[in-house]
Amino acid sequence: MSRSSGPDRRAHTSGIRHRCATTRHWTIAWDRTFADEEIVATMADRYANFAEFSKEEKLDFDYRIWLRDLSTPIVVLAPHGGWIEPGSSEVAAAIASEDYSLYLFEGIRRGRPHRDLHITSTRFDEPQATQLVGSAQTAIAVHGRRDGNDPRTVWLGGRNASLGTAIAQSIGAAGFEITAAERSLAGREPLNICNRGTSGGGVQLELPRTLRDELLLDVLRLQLFCDAVREAMLASLSA
Ligand SMILES: [Zn+2]
Repeated sequence: MSRSSGPDRRAHTSGIRHRCATTRHWTIAWDRTFADEEIVATMADRYANFAEFSKEEKLDFDYRIWLRDLSTPIVVLAPHGGWIEPGSSEVAAAIASEDYSLYLFEGIRRGRPHRDLHITSTRFDEPQATQLVGSAQTAIAVHGRRDGNDPRTVWLGGRNASLGTAIAQSIGAAGFEITAAERSLAGREPLNICNRGTSGGGVQLELPRTLRDELLLDVLRLQLFCDAVREAMLASLSA
């Protein structure tokens, strides 16, 4: 899919809604081939970059790309969407709603080891993603992490301190827990896809699996979470 040949906005949005509508089904059917970030962070990726990835993996069979370019200053993305870090696509799409540019890179073939499809954020160089983010001021990347001993807290990373702080305050005020990410998931490297906007800094949100499950099963809670992020985005744009 390219900018010129991709699905129109209506098709894109309806696709996401459809997937959200079936969330309960595929969450229950959750297999064990997902690749939550915290597990992957300690493992070598199968592919060093998208060029290697695309030689082996089939577009629209193993993975797919959703792209909506609205030329907004902030891009929302899920570089490990679909089955790679389940729920990250849906949360990213809900944050973007119909108002912000959106990019989803999704593992879609059931029953395969989806962590193979994980290209770590500092080496995530799929051309449409780097072009979209590179043409915006900043980006918010949504990821999924393993619960570990903390199934509630969003880990905040990225180089955009002002937007990150605003999101942390807004999410906290909405009743969610959020803290600075541990070093391995801090997202501070300039090459991290979230930091490739013209400002040189973006935001990375790592949601634990339990929280992702809750958000996907409770549309009002998902709305509450995403409204909090969007409020911070809007405030940063008008600052
Ligand atoms: Zn991720």
